[in-house]
Amino acid sequence: MDWGSILSQRMSRMKASEIRELLKLLDQPEIISFAGGIPDPALFPVEDYQKALAGALTGEAAAVSLQYSVSEGYLPLRRWLAAEMGRLGVVCGVENIFITSGSQQALDYLGKLLLSPGDTALVNWPTYMGALGAFNAYEPAYLRLNGNLGAAEVRAEAAASGGRPKFAYLSADFGNPTGETLDRAGREQLLDLATELDIAVIEDGAYQHLRYEGEAIPPILALEQARVGSIENCRTLYCGSFSKTLAPGLRVGWVCGASAAIQRLVLLKQAGDLHSSTINQIATAQVAETVFAAHVEQLRQVYGRRRSLVLEALAREMPEGVTWTRPEGGMFVWLTLPEAIDGAELLAHALKHQKVAFVPGRAFFADGTNGNTIRLSFSLHEKPAVDEGVRRIGQAIREMMAR
Ligand code: PMP
Repeated sequence: MDWGSILSQRMSRMKASEIRELLKLLDQPEIISFAGGIPDPALFPVEDYQKALAGALTGEAAAVSLQYSVSEGYLPLRRWLAAEMGRLGVVCGVENIFITSGSQQALDYLGKLLLSPGDTALVNWPTYMGALGAFNAYEPAYLRLNGNLGAAEVRAEAAASGGRPKFAYLSADFGNPTGETLDRAGREQLLDLATELDIAVIEDGAYQHLRYEGEAIPPILALEQARVGSIENCRTLYCGSFSKTLAPGLRVGWVCGASAAIQRLVLLKQAGDLHSSTINQIATAQVAETVFAAHVEQLRQVYGRRRSLVLEALAREMPEGVTWTRPEGGMFVWLTLPEAIDGAELLAHALKHQKVAFVPGRAFFADGTNGNTIRLSFSLHEKPAVDEGVRRIGQAIREMMAR
């Protein structure tokens, strides 16, 4: 069977990443890895989930927990999320909350909802590579959101690609991969542009709760609601996730936005996977109701300390010519290397000679440029691994510079 000859056109956009091949080497115990953007499993609320799952499987509850359920999501979880969005400054009801299997599924559904082949998605350079992966299946063109394009230019470029601009996608808080935050003025400007273009804004809030310093800025959705009144008039769709705060393996995320959009997402869910895991939603609702705030506070302490350790080590160990971001939250620091150094070549060298790993930056750019960048995740390590790992990265960069 020649599968290549019968594939759909969209598959031409779905590429295996060369980085994943390199990162398979990470199993070696002597390697210090800053590669995976994953939560520390030691911080999972294991006992809380043990209790919640045991309860969900006891007596009559089991008949509900193990049964099919509605595509919108488990009502008590949606109620809790509507209240949580309220705490973030978004006034909404359960009709504005839609549960997904992780926020990754939300990105897929939003691509499906909004993109025809040739339409344009505005994304940051760099942006979350998983968002590019999700949108790619719907064959969009990309334009640079943080490149100061005006509405007229966006329209002209989009028309040249054979479609129209449909949405701007971004993380406003501690995004993957840079860890940077968009300030309030930048959020307002983005809303101006989206309004002028009459497009949607997809706000990825995956790291929203993980702020370690500085004052919280309202989500774009909250700022828009302050302009237009009701959430029903908002063009922003906020994608949230329990993956970074509770546990990614349960695959529970959500979308918050105008019910006219939510209802259409529900149609996609009915056709896609019917609903997210009933028992995982039930357990997550209980854990969220009982320990969410306290648990997030604990994460902030631990990850905040780890972030400071990495920043201190970078200041000590990086050679002249390397710059990096100073994230106020999240899990990532983004390094820009001297132009001659390619992040993927550096990774190959670093794995072999220094036993240290990170993610090369090129795949985070929709046009595959800016190869002289790397992403470090600081979620997993304490001293002395941080000090030793960052020392090794500095050493690997010096060796590459000397070649
Ligand atoms: N958005 C961003 C910015 C992410 O970094 C991730 C996970 N790495 C996701 C979305 C997807 O997370 P999940 O599907 O687990 O909610």
